[in-house]
Amino acid sequence: MKYEISITKTTTPAAKPADESKLGFGKIFTDHMFIMDYNEGQGWHDARIVPFGPLPIHPASTVLHYGAEIFEGMKAYRQANGDIALFRPMENIRRLNNSAERLCLPQLDEEGCLDILKTIVELEKDWVPHSEGTSLYLRPYLFGNDPHLGVHAVKNAMFVVICSPVGAYYAEGIKPVKIAIESEDVRAVRGGTGYAKCGGNYAASLRAGKKAEEKGYTQVLWLDGVERKYIEEVGAMNVMFKIDGTIITPALTGSVLPGITRKSCVELLKSWGYNVEERLFSVDELFGAAESGHLEEAWGTGTAAVVSPIGHLSYKGNVYEVSNNEIGALTQKLYDELTGIQWGKVEDKFGWIEFVCRG
Ligand SMILES: *Cc1c(COP(=O)(O)O)cnc(C)c1O
Repeated sequence: MKYEISITKTTTPAAKPADESKLGFGKIFTDHMFIMDYNEGQGWHDARIVPFGPLPIHPASTVLHYGAEIFEGMKAYRQANGDIALFRPMENIRRLNNSAERLCLPQLDEEGCLDILKTIVELEKDWVPHSEGTSLYLRPYLFGNDPHLGVHAVKNAMFVVICSPVGAYYAEGIKPVKIAIESEDVRAVRGGTGYAKCGGNYAASLRAGKKAEEKGYTQVLWLDGVERKYIEEVGAMNVMFKIDGTIITPALTGSVLPGITRKSCVELLKSWGYNVEERLFSVDELFGAAESGHLEEAWGTGTAAVVSPIGHLSYKGNVYEVSNNEIGALTQKLYDELTGIQWGKVEDKFGWIEFVCRG
């Protein structure tokens, strides 16, 4: 089912960024945005693309008080053949609905949502940057919007999509990051909202991230919320380790976000013949492997950076270097393969690329 989308074009289009090396992440927005309203009686209605600008929000809106907000992060790529394409967008749409279910927010029609994403990307296709490694980042988000302070599942909601041209994540080449293992704060607990992509999880993670940055680390490695023993994620990325040739990644136990990059890496690794273990993986097991020289590579996975090699790990005063603080061969191979598929330079054997329009 497609939503009926009305389009009001801006009369004052902005100039496209001239220097694509200075795009950064999420600082510039395109000329238009998508908005759709929901209420219990009408369901989703008034789907519209309008000039980019502030949202009218009631001061008592649920999202501002009780954090009823979920989001997605995905990219539109300018491919080698001139097409503009999305990467596994249905995975993002299904995850958005799973997040919505957890927070009692209304479901979106999957086909209708894909049509919304394609419509806005096609309208903004000239905003998809051209330089190597750049893309148009899409930020779909959905929030509870009841205009009163009672606490219960919402009767009103809003779904919005904004678009931002983003720069090459590794403008200066892939650099391994320094990671501090967080043994106080936790990001999520089983039974909570860890598997939902919701703003609240990020709010809970900011303090540890700030503390790590102050100590010269890029991000934190999160441990489970009950025993603080099992590894869950790294910053806002999933995490993988190569130990004696086997790939280990934390199982999706409910407190780990089911990343689409994670899933794609697991599928690629298996197709290359690697043994991939999705299981509980303790910080003791990690440091045992590091101390005995069996930890070969470690990396994070996520849409923004695709893969991010971990070069340095610290835990309670102990410090370990991984792969001599260089990007490991398998980490590099995953990066090359995934970005190759995304930018249309490598054959898309798995059917992950969704054509949007000619560029
Ligand atoms: C979005 C996200 C990821 C990565 O998911 P991708 O689909 O690969 O981009 C990992 N962890 C958290 C907490 C996230 O929010």
